[in-house]
Amino acid sequence: MNVYDSGRMADILKPLGYTLIESPEDANLVILNTCHIREKADEKVYSDLGRIRPHKDEKMIIAVAGCVGQAEGAEIMRRAPYVDIVLGPQTYHRLPEMIARAQRSQDKKQGPGRGVIDVEFPVESKFDHLPQDHTTVGISAFVAIQEGCDQFCTFCVVPYTRGAEYSRPAQAIYEECARLCARGVKEITLLGQNVNAYHGLSPEGKEWGLGALMAHLATIEGLMRIRYMTSHPRDMDEELMAAHRDIPQVMPFLHLPVQSGSDRILEAMNRKHTRKYYLDIIEKMRGYRPDIGLSSDFIVGFPGETEQDFQDTLNLVKEVGFSQAYSFKYSPRIGTPGALMDNQIPEEIKAERLSRLQELLFAQQQAFNDSSIGKTMIVLLDRKGRKEGQYLGKTPYAQSVYVEAPARLYGHCVEVNIEKASSSSLTGTVVTQSN
Ligand code: SAH
Ligand code: SF4
Repeated sequence: MNVYDSGRMADILKPLGYTLIESPEDANLVILNTCHIREKADEKVYSDLGRIRPHKDEKMIIAVAGCVGQAEGAEIMRRAPYVDIVLGPQTYHRLPEMIARAQRSQDKKQGPGRGVIDVEFPVESKFDHLPQDHTTVGISAFVAIQEGCDQFCTFCVVPYTRGAEYSRPAQAIYEECARLCARGVKEITLLGQNVNAYHGLSPEGKEWGLGALMAHLATIEGLMRIRYMTSHPRDMDEELMAAHRDIPQVMPFLHLPVQSGSDRILEAMNRKHTRKYYLDIIEKMRGYRPDIGLSSDFIVGFPGETEQDFQDTLNLVKEVGFSQAYSFKYSPRIGTPGALMDNQIPEEIKAERLSRLQELLFAQQQAFNDSSIGKTMIVLLDRKGRKEGQYLGKTPYAQSVYVEAPARLYGHCVEVNIEKASSSSLTGTVVTQSN
């Protein structure tokens, strides 16, 4: 989502004459678009600011955007008084105005405290104020369709930093996607903090879920692949699951975070579903699409997690068999109920559990990739590799594949014979261009 937001900020600033450059030292404007989800991401903001500071002259404006801006507001300017602008994820359409204000106070040479802060949750949606066109367009693109979250899992800051759930109208999404495809985009990943809770207005004024939205998007000329992330198990409906069977552009891949395999911990996390509920969804999903690649997010060391609870997580992983996954040590976040729970787990235990979990997840990822060897898979070549003539693409199951290919195949789907596999990528030979 931050990648999408950063791109949109560049789009907003383009009419003001700003263009992207490689390094912050020579910039007139530096925007740090930040993440507040775990402490590690949060602390990175201050170390990055410290690195930029020596390059700041009277002309340079420094802005902190994103969820750290939203959560910490004026505190950022207190800790780093050389920051000129602090804004949240819902106000970046107002950046031109904020920059003008920051410039005015720079001209007046005001001292500390002159900073501009805009961390409101405005009634107007920023989406109605963003420029139509994306400035930089590749083969794969992100499009935000839903934002915010009403779930309030007890570990998570998202409902506080991104605000309440909001779904963009289907037609606005369609138009954004169609414009991207007209410029050569072949794959779109639909984004939302809780993307499968999507319930936007259809062109006929009804309410559409994500399945119906994707069916509409599948009619866009040139759009070959549709993906979406991140989903909540409670919002996986039959229409969405069936979309993986019925809409050829919807890829056989699902990122469905479970966080824990223990009912006790799921309840303490306020995930509002059980282990069985999750496993049932996986079984149903495989009924619609037997070859689906599955991914998840896990948190280890949530307050009160016993060795038995952790074993339940390991068992769930063994029962499902994931093709990839993300796993994290629980990070207590100020303002969330989890941070106030007693029985916090010591750091060493979290680290030790994380390494055991990751060992299992890596082994599953390696096994999944190994099972691709000898197969012919359709790969969309969407990135140039580091070496001359090398291209990178994705299989339908979201595995990265390295191939040697002539330049004319860049941006196309090709059939690739998979020859080698590591835990993170595949290597193969192009057989033919696919239709
Ligand atoms: N909406 C998605 C997840 C969004 S946050 C869902 O409901 O599953 C992305 C991931 O960050 C989460 O799935 C979770 O695994 C992790 N995460 C969120 N808060 C965390 C915290 N306080 N400590 C550790 N990991 C966290
Ligand atoms: Fe955070 Fe996801 Fe839970 Fe919402 S559903 S509170 S984004 S973990």
